Amino acid sequence: MIKSTFYIKIFYSLLFCLLFTGAHAQKKFTIVLDAGHGGEDHGANRLYDDIGRVTEKEITLAITLKLGRMLEKNKDFKVIYTRKIDEYPSLTDRTNLANRSKADFFVSIHCNANTKTTPYGTETFVQGPDQNKTNLEVAKAENDVIYLDEKDRQTFAAYDPSSPESLIALKIQQSKYLESSLIFGGFVEENFTTKDKRLSRGVKQQNLHVLRMNAMPSVLIETGFISNYEEAHYLASDKGQTEIAESIFNAIMSYKRAHDRRLGISDKKQEPEKTAESPLKNDFRVLLMSSPLKYSSGDPALKGLNYVLPIKENNLYKYYYGVSNYASVRDINLKTAKDAGFRSASAVGFVPNQKLSSGYYTIEVAISREKLSSNSYILQTLKDVNREKVNGTFFYTYGNVKTLEDAVKLQKELEDKGIKNTVIQKVNK
Ligand SMILES: [Zn+2]
Repeated sequence: MIKSTFYIKIFYSLLFCLLFTGAHAQKKFTIVLDAGHGGEDHGANRLYDDIGRVTEKEITLAITLKLGRMLEKNKDFKVIYTRKIDEYPSLTDRTNLANRSKADFFVSIHCNANTKTTPYGTETFVQGPDQNKTNLEVAKAENDVIYLDEKDRQTFAAYDPSSPESLIALKIQQSKYLESSLIFGGFVEENFTTKDKRLSRGVKQQNLHVLRMNAMPSVLIETGFISNYEEAHYLASDKGQTEIAESIFNAIMSYKRAHDRRLGISDKKQEPEKTAESPLKNDFRVLLMSSPLKYSSGDPALKGLNYVLPIKENNLYKYYYGVSNYASVRDINLKTAKDAGFRSASAVGFVPNQKLSSGYYTIEVAISREKLSSNSYILQTLKDVNREKVNGTFFYTYGNVKTLEDAVKLQKELEDKGIKNTVIQKVNK
């Protein structure tokens, strides 16, 4: 008797739970946590006299499990782990899992190492702009992961991968992933510096497989350098791992709030709604420096920044980093440039597709002390190359276009023909 009333009670409380949660059913925010490396792949590691071997795969797992426990306490989240033990899922396994679970966000956790012991600090990577094409292919292939928000859905009523409208929708979606990843990266690096008093090396764009193959906003967090004595001790400590997990957790909460506001999911406990960021009229690039010297990508003078666009004007090379028409991304790019060591970097506005009223853009294809031979690859490949001699050096330029966008396109065409290391030049007449 006692037993049966007990079961009836359980039955009613279960029923109540089902009805209650059913009425409030809302799609959970699915987050994939990826502990870097594992199994045979140890990642970075160093041996220290006092604490023994510090191994990346162990630290990334410890931080990931702590972070996962924090998230699992909140019923709004669904947490998926690429690994919970010391094993090695391939990079493709990791991205397939994320794509098939239709995750809303992907966080990969790593530790840095350097041959020198001095470098330290945190950095967060997001997909590089060149990756958009690959991401687009992934999104097309995994077409059931396509998710557009309400506004896009109205504009692009039905998804048909072969229609041009859908392709535009996908492109919009790709740039949103990048924006979202940059915003999240800003939150997490901010927490590392303000809450944990650590050095942030900034939010950076890089072509990384785990980021490239994901059809959702994705970041890879380098939580510190195992090769630096103090940081290795911090990373190996319970205190350090907890602080890092908390900083990532707080960034996820900030991101989720912004995400909910965008989708119009209201929550009375939250601060008043901020208006969604609208794009600016101009594109902004960060001017790193002006120099009479030409540096190619990867040159130490560029301090590790990728996607730097040099534009030559009045015999000076101006080096521009990043491009965005969102104020928040512009500010993050500027901070990244300053963190990298370009203290006097500034954001410069570019009017999109602005035609020069006087003057033009051309491409500097070669600089040489000697005259290029008519058999040279450049002169064989291109017609109407201009040659100019300044202070005993020959400068070769090609093409004449009115907008920077066309110049970028022309430069890409030359690159496809195997003519690399060219520089866009603005000629004022
Ligand atoms: Zn790693």
